[in-house]
Amino acid sequence: MKRVGAHVSIAGGVENAPLHASSIGAKAFAMFTKNQRQWTAPKLTSSSIDAFRKNCSDGGFKPEHILPHDSYLINLGTPDPDKLRNAREAFIDEMQRTECLDLRLLNFHPGSHLNGISEERCLQLIAESINMALNATTTVTAVIENTAGQGTNLGYRFEQLASLLDQVEDKTRVGVCLDTCHLFTSGYDLQTTAAIEATFKEFDRIVGLGFLRGMHLNDSLRPLGSRLDRHASIGKGTIGMEAFSYIMKHPACEEIPLILETPDSELWSSEISLLYSL
Ligand SMILES: [Zn+2]
Ligand SMILES: [Zn+2]
Repeated sequence: MKRVGAHVSIAGGVENAPLHASSIGAKAFAMFTKNQRQWTAPKLTSSSIDAFRKNCSDGGFKPEHILPHDSYLINLGTPDPDKLRNAREAFIDEMQRTECLDLRLLNFHPGSHLNGISEERCLQLIAESINMALNATTTVTAVIENTAGQGTNLGYRFEQLASLLDQVEDKTRVGVCLDTCHLFTSGYDLQTTAAIEATFKEFDRIVGLGFLRGMHLNDSLRPLGSRLDRHASIGKGTIGMEAFSYIMKHPACEEIPLILETPDSELWSSEISLLYSL
């Protein structure tokens, strides 16, 4: 089956995330494992971890349907050596928190070169960062998200994602999350069934659909190729419904988290029903 959900709040503790997800009819969810605006966080307590596991199992959420997202502060490709060290430490901590919760996936944005180094060097640093994090953990898969290519963010071309995957040593613990808004504004057309089919074929040729571990389902406020990251509610943006209908029928999207990151949380439960009706 298709596993549609949303990026839900952890206010009051991570154990509340599965409860929020159940309350909107979600069959998957995303969350932060800590305050995403801070570098460090207290360790998860064993009572919080136990409650999280119980609430997940009560709600029917399996680890492969839960897609935690790392902090937006982390840039695994920064040209500044001190900042890179901090970013890598913080990322390893996020991977370990994910493991503590018995989860299998951690979603992150690859990184930005900040005009300080070449794209190629930046991709190398990001891949090295992923290798370090995989060496420091045992069960979590690092899930690279494609970006809109805003500013100096990398990961907006399939070739860049493929280059990262190539440089990661343990191919069994690395994957990709495709965000529809990011795909569209980075220049991959999704507006018609033929267009999204061509985009999926291109992804399969360059990256491989076998690496797809999740998707973010967002409509876009901005046009194709604008390289701007502004999410819109499903059906209320420039992408339109054909793309979402295609995804809801695609076999590569079975049993992976399909996560809304749309701006109005009041609409999530109706967006989930809308997607299932496709
Ligand atoms: Zn996203
Ligand atoms: Zn975005």
